[in-house]
Amino acid sequence: MEQIVPIDEDDIWNAIVARNAEYDGVFYYGVITTGIYCVPSCPSKRPSRSSVRIFGNNEDAQAAGFRACKRCKPDEIVERMQKIHEVMSVLERSQNEILSPSQWAASAGLSLDTLRKLTIAYAGLSPRDIIHHQKMNAFKLSIKNGNEISASQYDAGFGSSSRLYEKASTLLGMTPRQYKEKGKNVRIHYAIFETKLGMAIIAGTEKGICSLQFDDSSDTLFDLLQKEFSKAELVNDSEPLSGWMKMLNDYLDGNCKKLSIPLDVHTTAFRAKVWEAIRRIPYGETRSYSRLAKEIGEPKAARAVAAACAANPVALVTPCHRVIHEDGKTSGYRWGIKRKKILLSMEKENAE
Ligand SMILES: [Zn+2]
Repeated sequence: MEQIVPIDEDDIWNAIVARNAEYDGVFYYGVITTGIYCVPSCPSKRPSRSSVRIFGNNEDAQAAGFRACKRCKPDEIVERMQKIHEVMSVLERSQNEILSPSQWAASAGLSLDTLRKLTIAYAGLSPRDIIHHQKMNAFKLSIKNGNEISASQYDAGFGSSSRLYEKASTLLGMTPRQYKEKGKNVRIHYAIFETKLGMAIIAGTEKGICSLQFDDSSDTLFDLLQKEFSKAELVNDSEPLSGWMKMLNDYLDGNCKKLSIPLDVHTTAFRAKVWEAIRRIPYGETRSYSRLAKEIGEPKAARAVAAACAANPVALVTPCHRVIHEDGKTSGYRWGIKRKKILLSMEKENAE
């Protein structure tokens, strides 16, 4: 299996430098010189890059001999994420009763100071801003829907469909929690089957597929799935997946050009945007990393785009094989350059 590791490391390093709370719970970093491990948003002094070690979870950091940081309290990250979701839903449910940050804090059973730290860390906004935006948004929404002004003023207390809450949820990162929990309480059906590209594993929930990968070894494929969703209930059963497996083989035979397969993947907002852009690349065409970066409105993020490609969990459905180097050369592919070349020439041959 081929991975573009250095780029991914940059991605991680950038998250540390930016103290990006979106990555809290996604990874932990240990500082060799101090023996302490932190979450990316930790306010402490940035370590030097060479003294950092990255861990997927806090247990691994502890096993490697690191101690939890007293400032960012990395072991409490999951609790803090649950807390912020709770706090936001207290605001949601309160309708127009919460008018001030202190009322909000009291309803959530927190001190005002704790509430402020939470909202600033995870949404980048003070409690007052959140209340204000939420009211304004609900008001605008209500007006737009053609309601009477008086009714709007009443509804504007707190709308349940506030865009700010959506924005906050994105920023809060349902994703890190998903990563952290590794599919807890989720049932995932999977099947390992033979394709023109070697062995493949397909796995999905009732909402859609969460993994499609290739390798020469069935054992490796199962290990990959188990590692990613170690807390999920994994059920070896091809029956619910058979329609999609047929579609994939048709596609590999050149008889199907659009894979209409629903996805159930979770990631950061940035990666979701990259993957969406990749799915818009037409069959038989390619895009460079930098052009894709421009298309998503992040012209300087070509390296992060490459990292997002390397992290794609669903081959073919998100056709990251259609993303190549600027100079037209085939670049790395999570499932091997050989497979990427076969896919590109097959699509070229069958495209009209
Ligand atoms: Zn820390």
